[in-house]
Amino acid sequence: MTDVEKRPAAPPAPAGWDYAPAPEAREIVKLRERYGLFVGGTWLEPTEAYTTISPATEEPLAEIAQATPGEVQAAVAAAREAFENGWSALPGSERAKYLFRIARILQERAREFAVLESLNGGKPIKEARDVDVPLAAAHFFYYAGWADKLEYAFPNRRPHPLGVAGQIIPWNFPLLMLAWKIAPAIAAGNTVVLKPAETTPLSALLFCDVLRQADLPPGVVNIVTGDGRTGAALVTSDVDKIAFTGSTDVGKAIQRELAGKPTRLTLELGGKAANVIFDDAALDQAVEGIVNGIYFNQGHVCCAGSRLFVQESVVEDVIAKLKRRMGTLRVGDPLDKNTDVGAINSRQQLEKIKELVASGEEEGAQIYQPPCRLPERGYWFAPTVFTDVAQSYRIAQEEIFGPVLSVLTFRTPEEALEKANNTPYGLSAGIWTEKGSRILWMAERLRAGVIWANTYNRFDPTSPFGGYKESGFGREGGLHGLEPYLRFE
Ligand code: NDP
Repeated sequence: MTDVEKRPAAPPAPAGWDYAPAPEAREIVKLRERYGLFVGGTWLEPTEAYTTISPATEEPLAEIAQATPGEVQAAVAAAREAFENGWSALPGSERAKYLFRIARILQERAREFAVLESLNGGKPIKEARDVDVPLAAAHFFYYAGWADKLEYAFPNRRPHPLGVAGQIIPWNFPLLMLAWKIAPAIAAGNTVVLKPAETTPLSALLFCDVLRQADLPPGVVNIVTGDGRTGAALVTSDVDKIAFTGSTDVGKAIQRELAGKPTRLTLELGGKAANVIFDDAALDQAVEGIVNGIYFNQGHVCCAGSRLFVQESVVEDVIAKLKRRMGTLRVGDPLDKNTDVGAINSRQQLEKIKELVASGEEEGAQIYQPPCRLPERGYWFAPTVFTDVAQSYRIAQEEIFGPVLSVLTFRTPEEALEKANNTPYGLSAGIWTEKGSRILWMAERLRAGVIWANTYNRFDPTSPFGGYKESGFGREGGLHGLEPYLRFE
């Protein structure tokens, strides 16, 4: 037999080599100077307003309404009227037609939504284009399919809609979170008042155009913009259900507010996911999963794989491969099609990331950031990895919500499990090994709502998503995501 000559591993791309700029044209997005509140199918002139900006350039984009408690009440009243005067009594097959229409229009206007999402939120256009917008459309398609089959989805349980759902969403996936919330709610026959995050209202406001295009009856979906005060007003208003995605602190405050009241509640809160790499894993693939797990969407992801656990025997190899891969990440203009890591969503979030990173250095962890040129204006943070991290460090305990990874090690599966579960959160986890039995052993014991094996950050509308412990309760996606919008006889 002839000896097979092994080729040496390919050297990394030379540092001087670069891509040509590939900016996505932003002219497709026609912004108004000022937006009102979308209530009862029409735009209400607001009493107060603020300016929304592009976090990549700090350039002002539009004036946005800051809804007052009275305006929130008007939106809830419009939703109540739409619920009682038609929507809840409409046959499921008719409701489904509207959801299908919305899904199709989102697909037709996909580029416009992708550019707007990137402009207002700072995320790379390739992520908005390939993940956020297609998945948002997929959720409307998926729940359209259930609208006329609710009795079959929940046999012998006689499902009925709840009434008006108040929905509060964060800034990391503005359009996708809107779809996660609105699609199951209206498929089940409810009407909705949704509050987008203060920093990223624009895709929800463009979505109002889609609702009009789809001829959705007035009042079925109402959008009220504003900061936390608007969210708090929605929580205390006359709604039948609150669905919230955001920080654990605000989630707890909402739970306290609703304690003892009949308002239904689901909470999708923070996370500090363990991404566990065993020594038999395909390491190059695992490194891609690590990068996707923490640097996707600048790490502004509740299920981000922010705690990396690597088996001791391969830790040096994994760190070397990871650092080399980090050197190829392109940080910069979110609207450039070659950008991998975009802008941090707000100055406030950037300050929070900086504060936690400084605490990691003070506590004794080793920091590494690949050389990269950050733009002068806007909010930016280089992809970061910390080694020599102890379980007790803040960077191993607290949700950073930025492109910052903490690496810890383990020797046995039992140790990996114990360390992975040593967190107040329980949203997601990743396991990398070629042994199926080990995947099942770990998955049975990890306290996390979503577990990926040999992949990370995979989403599908048919698959439920949600957490344990301080990551909240209730599920979104799949049949599980319909149930919180129904009552049963
Ligand atoms: P928040 O929890 O404050 O924001 C989430 C949503 O709730 C926003 O629409 C917000 O409005 C609204 N809100 C704020 N205060 C209240 C209130 N008292 N009652 C009702 N609604 C309210 O998250 P932040 O945007 O401040 O982010 C802070 C941290 O939270 C991040 O650093 C991250 O760690 C975590 N986070 C987790 C998310 C997840 O998906 N698990 C998503 C976002 C953040 P407004 O935007 O106007 O403040």
